[in-house]
Amino acid sequence: MKKREKQINERLTQMPRQYRKTYQRAAAGSASPRMAIKAFCQECVGWQREEIKNCTGTACPLFLYRPYQSSSSKRTESSREALCASTGDKLSEKAL
Ligand code: SF4
Repeated sequence: MKKREKQINERLTQMPRQYRKTYQRAAAGSASPRMAIKAFCQECVGWQREEIKNCTGTACPLFLYRPYQSSSSKRTESSREALCASTGDKLSEKAL
């Protein structure tokens, strides 16, 4: 068994069964970027959905893309502008 395959299988045995399908698809490259982010966030917080929603890792590059955000905390024009201002970037609407 190849090293990566072995690592993936090992990881699968360590996560709750209901999260395995998303992880497997992401690891296989057949998931959408959104699903891959979801799989990463799920693992990051120990598979606690509420913890993703209430994530405090605001510096994480996935923060604005994480799933389970309430509509009030989703990316808004003001958060986009604040991010651009803080980074000095001229990020396009499409990039965010
Ligand atoms: S956004 Fe939050 S939950 Fe998702 S990977 Fe980053 S720190 Fe973890």
